[in-house]
Amino acid sequence: MSEGAAKKEEKPRKFQAIRGTRDLLPPETALWNRVEQTADEVFSTFGFGEIRVPIFESTDLFARSIGAETDVVSKEMYTFGGFAEFSARVREGRVEGMLSEMSPEEMISLRPEATASVCRAYIEHNMQQLPQPVKLYYMGPMFRRERPQKGRYRQFYQIGAEVLGGSDAPAIDAEVIEMVMTFFDRLELQGAQLDINSIGDRNCRPKYVELLRAELLKVRDNPATAGRLGPDTLRRIETNPLRVLDSKLESEQAIIAKLPRIADHLCEECAAHYAAVKHQLEMRGVIYRENWRLVRGLDYYMRTTFEITAQGLGSQNAVCGGGRYDGLVELLGGPPTKGIGFAIGEDRLILSLQESGKAPTQQGRDVYIAWMGERAHATAIRAAKDLRKAGFSVELPPVEQKFGKALGQADKLGAKYALILGDNEVSEGLWTLKTLADGSQAKFTEPDLLEHLRKQKAGGL
Ligand code: AMP
Repeated sequence: MSEGAAKKEEKPRKFQAIRGTRDLLPPETALWNRVEQTADEVFSTFGFGEIRVPIFESTDLFARSIGAETDVVSKEMYTFGGFAEFSARVREGRVEGMLSEMSPEEMISLRPEATASVCRAYIEHNMQQLPQPVKLYYMGPMFRRERPQKGRYRQFYQIGAEVLGGSDAPAIDAEVIEMVMTFFDRLELQGAQLDINSIGDRNCRPKYVELLRAELLKVRDNPATAGRLGPDTLRRIETNPLRVLDSKLESEQAIIAKLPRIADHLCEECAAHYAAVKHQLEMRGVIYRENWRLVRGLDYYMRTTFEITAQGLGSQNAVCGGGRYDGLVELLGGPPTKGIGFAIGEDRLILSLQESGKAPTQQGRDVYIAWMGERAHATAIRAAKDLRKAGFSVELPPVEQKFGKALGQADKLGAKYALILGDNEVSEGLWTLKTLADGSQAKFTEPDLLEHLRKQKAGGL
C-alpha cells in the first residue's frame, strides 16, 4: 500500500474538551461579562481593589492553608512535579519512584481556590504596611478533580473577596455579607438565601468538638444506632467531628438533629461577636437564617461562617461560601492578621440566572451593509468605520452579494437595519436604510443617517 493510501484511511482524531471542562460560547459569554462587570462595579463601591494571582502555586501553600487531609488537597488537586528536580532526575536516570519521593516544595498545583494565594500575596508584598484593612477581590478559574455533574466542574470559576488586616469588628463581617447580597440583588438573582453561623474560636471550639465527638461515639457504640452512621461520618468522628454536621446522608439526619449545638457552647467573646454580627446585618437590612450546621472543618476558620444558596440549581445549590479566618496569614508565615472572605461559584450563579430567564439572548447586529460595486465597497468600508466608531455593531460582507441574498443574510444575523449601497446611492450621496422589522425604507445623507440611527438607539429601537 502506498503511503498516500495509508494516510487516506487514517481518520483524524476528533478532540473534545476534557471531562469536567467546557467551552463558554456566545451569547452566554455576554452574561459572564455582565456578571463580572457588575462585580467590578459593586465591589469597587465598597472600596475593594482587584488582585490577580497566578493560576498555579506551590502545592505546599494549598496543603498548609486548605489542610493536607481535606478532600480538595488529598484527592482533587492537579499537581505537577517540580521542574528543577524533575529534569535533574530525568537527566540522571533516577526516575523510579520519582513522584512520591519529590520534596513538596518542588511540586506545584493548579489552584483549587484563591484565598491561600491572596494571603500569600498579602505577606509577600508587605501589605500589612498599607492602611488596614486591605480589601481585595478576584475572579478566575479554579481546578478541582471532582466528579462532574450539573453545577460541578473540574475547571470552574469563582468570584471572591478578602478583607485582610485591621480589626475583627462584627461590622466588617456584616459589610462583606452585605456586599455579596448587593451584588446578587443587582443581578436579580432569584431566591438567594443567606445562612449564617458562628463556629467559635480556638478558645471555645475545641471543647465543643470534644463534646460532639463524645456524643457521636455514644451513637457509634450503641448497637441500636451504630448502623445508621455512614463511612464518612465514622471516619470523621476521629478526624474532624465538626464536618459530620455537613452530612446529607438520610439515615444520619435524626441523629445529627439531636447533637449539641455550637451556639450553646460559644465563649463569651464569640457569643458577643455573633450577636453583634446579626445586629449589624439587621442594621443593613440583610435578611439571614441561622443554620447551626454550617461549619468549616479547618482550624484557622473561626466565628462567622456563611453560605448563600439560589434557586434552579438542584443539589449543587450553594452559590457562595465564606467565613472568618483570622489564623490563616500567620499560618503562612505572616504577622497575626484578621481575615474574612467569600467565594462565589460563578458557573452556578450563571446557571441560576439562566434558569430564571435572566440570560441575554443573541445580540443581533445593528446594521448590515449590503453593498454592490467597487465604488460602493469603498463607501461601505468608510461607513462601517464611522458606524462602529459611534458604537453600532456592523456586519460588512467581505465579498459582493446580490441585494436579495444580502437582505436574507441580514435577517439571519438578526440585524435591525440593512444599509443599501449601490452605484445610485454613491453617486447621489443618498444612502438607503431598510428597517428589517417592517420592511420600510428611507434615504439619508451620510450625516443624517448617523443622526437618525443615534436617535433610534437612544429611544431603544
Ligand atoms: P468553596 O471554595 O469550596 O467554599 O466553594 C465556594 C463556591 O464555589 C461554592 O459555593 C460553589 O458555588 C463553587 N464551587 C466549588 N466547587 C465547585 C465546582 N467543582 N464546580 C462549580 N462550582 C464550584
